[in-house]
Amino acid sequence: MARIADLLAAGPCFSFEFFPPKSEEAERVLEQTLVELEPLRPSYVSITYGAGGTTRERTHDLVVQILRTTTMTPMAHLTCAAHTRAELQAVLERYRDAGVQNVLCLGGDPPAGLNLPEGELKYAAELVQLARDVDGFSLAVAAHPEGHPSSPNLTLDRDRTAAKLAQADFAVTQFFFRPGDYFALVESLADRGITKPVVPGIMPVTNLAGISRMAALSGAAVPREVIDRIEPYADDAAAVRRCGVEIATELCLELLAGGAPGLHFYTLNRSTATREIHANLGLGAS
Ligand code: FAD
Repeated sequence: MARIADLLAAGPCFSFEFFPPKSEEAERVLEQTLVELEPLRPSYVSITYGAGGTTRERTHDLVVQILRTTTMTPMAHLTCAAHTRAELQAVLERYRDAGVQNVLCLGGDPPAGLNLPEGELKYAAELVQLARDVDGFSLAVAAHPEGHPSSPNLTLDRDRTAAKLAQADFAVTQFFFRPGDYFALVESLADRGITKPVVPGIMPVTNLAGISRMAALSGAAVPREVIDRIEPYADDAAAVRRCGVEIATELCLELLAGGAPGLHFYTLNRSTATREIHANLGLGAS
C-alpha cells in the first residue's frame, strides 16, 4: 500500500479507473478485467463513487477488496453531493480504519430525478479540508482541461482549480482529446503558482456514439479531427476500436513527451483498449 503523492514524487504514474459493477454479470466482467490489468502493475487504480451515495457500499467494498486481495494500490473517489458532513466523515474514517490511504475528493453530480437533499459541503475543496482533518490521506482533486461545464468562464474555473489543488496533493483530469488543452491547464495553474502533478485522464474512443454522449455530459468535446478519423469505420466496430486506440496512443505519447507526470486511463471496466495502448507505449510492467 502506498500514498500516491509519494509515488508521483518518485516518477510517472500509470493508473486505471473502474466503477463498482451493478449486476452479477458486470461483476464477472470487472473481475476478469482486474485479472488482466494487474500484471501491468499500475501505480494505482481508482474506484468511482455514485454521487449522492448511490454506490456508497459498493465503492467501499471494491476499494477494500482491491486493497486486501490484489497487489494494486486503490484510491477511493468520494463526492460531496447530498451528503452531510457527518456522513462524509464516517466514510473517510471507515477508509482510514481499513488502511486505505488515497482519496479523490469531488463535488459530484447526483443523478437527476432522485430528489436528493442539498449536500452540506458544496465543492470538492471543502471535502479536501474535511479529509485532511480525518487523516493523513494522500488527496487528489479533479481538473477540467476544457473548463468545468458549470463554470461561467475558463479564467474563473482555473482560479478555483488552482485554489483547490493548492490544498490537495495532485489532480487527475477529465478526459480530453487535444494535448493543447492539457498543457494550457498546466500552464495556467503554474501561472497561479501551482505546480503540483496534474495527471491527464485518457478515454480511448471505442464507440463513437458512446463517447460523444459522455463528452457532452462532462463538458469535453470530441474534436472534428477525431470524428473525421473514426467516422469512415462507423460500420466496423473492430476498426473503430483500432482507430480509437491509435488516436489515444498518439495523445499519450505527446503528453508524456511534454512532461505529463503519468496517465490515468478511464477503462469503463474493460481491459482490451487499455492493454493495447499500454503495449503501444512500451510501458511494460511499471
Ligand atoms: P468542484 O471543485 O466541486 O467544482 C464544481 C463547480 O463549482 C465548478 O464549476 C467550479 O468552478 C465551481 N466552484 C468551485 N469552487 C467554488 C466556489 N468556492 N464558489 C463558487 N463556485 C465554485 N463524479 C461522480 O459523481 N463520481 C465520481 O467518482 C467521479 N469521478 C471523477 C473523476 C475525475 C478524474 C473527474 C475529472 C471527474 C469525476 N467526477 C465524478 C465528476 C465530477 O463529480 C463532476 O465534474 C462535478 O460536476 C464537479 O466536481 P469537481 O470535483 O470536478 O468540481
